[in-house]
Amino acid sequence: MELNCRHVWEFLSGYLDDTLDAAVREDVERHLAHCEVCSAILDSTRNILVLTADDRVFELPVGFSDRLHARLNELIGEDPTSPEKT
Ligand SMILES: [Zn+2]
Repeated sequence: MELNCRHVWEFLSGYLDDTLDAAVREDVERHLAHCEVCSAILDSTRNILVLTADDRVFELPVGFSDRLHARLNELIGEDPTSPEKT
């Protein structure tokens, strides 16, 4: 299955938590290997996890995910309100 960036973002937390199916994980890795945007996102998400690791309970800052997705949409030049292209 060919993932687009949006799919990868959906899977990112599962990827970092290692809760994805092996097949899905493979697809995500394949995408990350050639997509600079998603690997950058993975890196920064991982940094946040490391920074918050001491707190035991991991919580993203309020609005983090909205801001992240807005930034992502900016990066790939898509309107977040437009319907998903098939
Ligand atoms: Zn991507």
